[in-house]
Amino acid sequence: MKILNPATLALVADVAEDTPASVAAAYERARRAQPAWASTPLETRLAAITRFRDLVTERKDELALTLTREMGKPITQSHNELAALPARIDFFLTHTAGVLDEETVHTQPNALAEVITHEPLGVIANVSAWNYPWFVGSNVFVPALLTGNAVLYKPSEHATLTGRRIAELLHLAGVPEDVFVAVVGGGAIGAAVVEQPVDGVFFTGSYATGRRIAERVALRMIRLQLELGGKDPTYVTDDVDVRGAAESLADGAMYNGGQSCCSVERIYVHEAVADAFVDAFVDVVKGFKLGDPEDRATYIGPLARREQLDVLDAQVADALAKGARVLTGGQRAARPGAYFEPTVIAAATNAMRVMRDESFGPIIGIASVKSDDEAIERMNDTEYGLTAGVYSRDNGRAARVLSHVNAGTVYINACDRVSPRLPWTGRKHSGMGSTLSTYGIRAFLQPKAWHKKAG
Ligand code: NAD
Repeated sequence: MKILNPATLALVADVAEDTPASVAAAYERARRAQPAWASTPLETRLAAITRFRDLVTERKDELALTLTREMGKPITQSHNELAALPARIDFFLTHTAGVLDEETVHTQPNALAEVITHEPLGVIANVSAWNYPWFVGSNVFVPALLTGNAVLYKPSEHATLTGRRIAELLHLAGVPEDVFVAVVGGGAIGAAVVEQPVDGVFFTGSYATGRRIAERVALRMIRLQLELGGKDPTYVTDDVDVRGAAESLADGAMYNGGQSCCSVERIYVHEAVADAFVDAFVDVVKGFKLGDPEDRATYIGPLARREQLDVLDAQVADALAKGARVLTGGQRAARPGAYFEPTVIAAATNAMRVMRDESFGPIIGIASVKSDDEAIERMNDTEYGLTAGVYSRDNGRAARVLSHVNAGTVYINACDRVSPRLPWTGRKHSGMGSTLSTYGIRAFLQPKAWHKKAG
């Protein structure tokens, strides 16, 4: 499998791809190794993940460069991802013991006790995405390993080298080689992973692939979690600091080239401030430097997947045909590599693809609305339900709007943000199940109910 640098299309590495047979063998190894890992004291598992966290921190420069070269993330943003990782890992290190604790929920004088214990699922499959491979991977494999599961892990084909480094560092840190097994390849190898008789499938990626996986897994009665895409809307009310909102939202729309599941994908702005907001937004976007992702001054790098350029071209053409205006960008950048200019589309409507289909690129549609109720209606007019936000000086007003929006995560005067302390949950086509928070630890456990009477 050839790994090309999306900025230059130069060959970064040529790696051997797994085969369905080697995936099956990897699964067998994980199955055999899991019981011993589950009976390892929790302290040993915590120590291994602590060491993994420290190894990542020690090697962050090399790991950031690897990520930038294989998927095009600007180097400062690769560093940011790695710098934020320890806090996520620490959350799991701190909270796993509490979730695993045995709970006595009822006792009676005649010595009946009702107790809940928590057992690992067994072997879980983790098929992962490329856009934040350290975050989305560790959200799954860290709590899975801490709770005693073995993991069959397939990184995205666009983050293969990072996936391999994750495996190497986990093994160096003390996770047995057969307890965390990484396989390499594209969609066919992902499908082979899902076909193994695992006890749970944890997938991060697109709705299209997630749906295919759900169909394959449905009849097997195993745990299935899907972290899928979004068409994340934000409403800007008429009482905001317009410049501040524009700066925050432009960053939320364009950071990582807009290739985040929670990137701001649509903006609805109250008509009273629409012109001022759009002007400020365009001004901020024009200041974003597009260029070589290895240059620390670069804010917009190439898209990780060349094919996505066609999606963005089509969204722009569709929006123009339906009456929108392109205020900046709107086309591929005139340079080698998979670059698209940061693009702002005004006078967008919900009939346009840029307001309906996940863009996953540096492009944003902005529409004006007359009222909070209209904003609520527009924000809910989507098949997705990942995140939504409101910018307002009035927190009560923002909260009222967001209480009517069907999304797993809501932001007030913030966007494009994930916290390890809060559950990350997609609704509708954005997925099912939760990662992060204590929900995201329980996800890798099954309860056992004990009815105990004295003999
Ligand atoms: P993708 O669906 O193309 O690929 C995801 C993974 O699935 C890859 O590892 C791929 O090799 C594998 N795959 C492809 N076909 C498969 C099949 N038939 N069976 C099993 N595995 C298969 O998605 P992507 O391009 O890697 O990621 C982008 C998408 O991920 C976006 O929609 C984004 O919003 C979403 N995402 C969601 C979250 C979240 O937490 N909700 C986080 C990051 C990314």
